[in-house]
Amino acid sequence: MNAGLIYIDIDDVISDTTSTFPSLLEKHFDKAVSFEAITSFDLGISFGLDKEELARFMTIAHSPEVITAYKPRAGAVESLNWFIGMGYEIAIVTGRPPDSKRLTQEWLIKHNISFHHLLFVDKYSRVIPGLQFTFAISLEALAQMNFCFAVEDSADMARFLSHNMQIPVALLDRPWNRDEDIMPAGLINRCHNWDDVMEAFRLREQNNTNRLKK
Ligand SMILES: [Mg+2]
Repeated sequence: MNAGLIYIDIDDVISDTTSTFPSLLEKHFDKAVSFEAITSFDLGISFGLDKEELARFMTIAHSPEVITAYKPRAGAVESLNWFIGMGYEIAIVTGRPPDSKRLTQEWLIKHNISFHHLLFVDKYSRVIPGLQFTFAISLEALAQMNFCFAVEDSADMARFLSHNMQIPVALLDRPWNRDEDIMPAGLINRCHNWDDVMEAFRLREQNNTNRLKK
């Protein structure tokens, strides 16, 4: 039985990614910026890096040593297993550069993260000099897919999923999405951890069931 397809982002959703960036910035650029100060999703802005420096930072952030060392976020593995046990399909949908595919697959396997699909989507139309991104899937192609629920940390993607695709979104609260006005249509729930995400999902299911009963 396929109960529905669920969209799950990787970085800062399954993987505790950006919390590792301040130490990378300090090590490679001799700059001190705290995690809480990462208030823009654009790391060039949050870290005060120009385009070339940002390209260098992104290369470091996607290097094998760095990607391999990311830790899963608490509750992520168990939650994906619960969804699968309930008959849902999991699509992991990332905006990482597609050339990180092998490392990403290895990381997911290493941490026993269960999923059905791994999609590399051009979420941010990133143009970074020196880095070639060839994405398998455009946002337009993503919009043709039929998800029943999504978990994201990007406010722009949360808006795209809720506004353009009418999908309920659990937005994991992070410093870079706090200033955003992102509650229109009531499809976006701000969540502080995976317990909150699962609570938002169960509430949505309950509401659907009640609606069907009426
Ligand atoms: Mg993310």
